[in-house]
Amino acid sequence: MALTNCTECGRQISDQASSCPGCGAPLGETVAAAHPTTIQATSKRYKGQMVAAVILMLVSFVVMLAGAGARGSGGVIVGALGIAAGFFWLLGARLYAWWHHG
Ligand SMILES: [Zn+2]
Repeated sequence: MALTNCTECGRQISDQASSCPGCGAPLGETVAAAHPTTIQATSKRYKGQMVAAVILMLVSFVVMLAGAGARGSGGVIVGALGIAAGFFWLLGARLYAWWHHG
C-alpha cells in the first residue's frame, strides 16, 4: 500500500482510497482525466468517418435523383454505387469501432 498526497489539501493518504478522508476530494483524478481523452479522440475519428460516409451517401442520392431525371444517363448506377459504397464505409467504421472498443 503506497501513500500519495491529496491534490486538494496535501494530506498523505492511501492510493487505494477513492477519496481523501481529510477533505473528501476524489483521488486518481489524473488517471481518470487521461482515459476519457483517448476515448474522445478515437470516437471523434470514428464520427468523422461516419459523417464522411453519410455525406457520400447523400451526394450519391442527389446524383441518383439527377440521373433518374435525365433519362438514359449512367447517373442512377453511379449514385447507387455511391450509396452502396457509403453504406459499407459506415458499416466498416462501425465494425472498426466495435473491434477496438467492444
Ligand atoms: Zn484532501
